[in-house]
Amino acid sequence: MYIFAPLKSHILMKINNALEKHFEELGDDHASAAQDTPLRKDAFVLSDEEKIESIKGNVTQIMQTLGLDLEDDSLKGTPNRVAKMFVQEIFAGLHPKRKPKSSTFSNKYKYGEMLVEKNITLYSTCEHHLLPIVGKAHVAYISKGTVVGLSKMNRIVDYYAKRPQVQERLNIQIVRELQEVLGTEDVACVIDAKHLCVNSRGIRDIESSTVTAEYGGKFKDEAVRREFLDYINIDTKF
Ligand SMILES: [Zn+2]
Repeated sequence: MYIFAPLKSHILMKINNALEKHFEELGDDHASAAQDTPLRKDAFVLSDEEKIESIKGNVTQIMQTLGLDLEDDSLKGTPNRVAKMFVQEIFAGLHPKRKPKSSTFSNKYKYGEMLVEKNITLYSTCEHHLLPIVGKAHVAYISKGTVVGLSKMNRIVDYYAKRPQVQERLNIQIVRELQEVLGTEDVACVIDAKHLCVNSRGIRDIESSTVTAEYGGKFKDEAVRREFLDYINIDTKF
């Protein structure tokens, strides 16, 4: 015990120094600004495979701590399954390499009205509890000469949703990305979502949902915003 004690504190000191340096650098870069997902500088040093391997070990530890028998047939595949799901599915949108390619087209039809893509299914994860956020996103823009394929809007929603998120930030990130791709401020997004951390635990309010909205450019105008919200409220039946 005595022999290992100094070694342990030495390692701890090393980790502490590295962390201190890391947070200092973060502060310099303003990398943890509210609109950006707070990522560490070394976020992509590990490959996906290395991350899966590491997370697998961590999940194993959590399950063992809870007293679960990982020799059981039903449980033994869980750490690997969860690790793969984190890296390749529900948190896949952390990696910029998965950002949807932004192929745009010129607005040949000279369509000058707003285009609304509503009821985009949204699955995300609350970053405070790592529990699902399930809902709908409604996105709109008014073209300034550039248009995007309709499915691009779904893909952008999905990319930013696949991260540990807070709904407000997700909403802003979707609008910001579309503004950049389309070269216009005239973009809006409304999200209506259920947070399982509210619905299934804590206060356990099954009925409540959270609505957030972000309006850019012309959508700040009352009449334009009204038009957008009216379209969302159309009860689409096919
Ligand atoms: Zn939560």
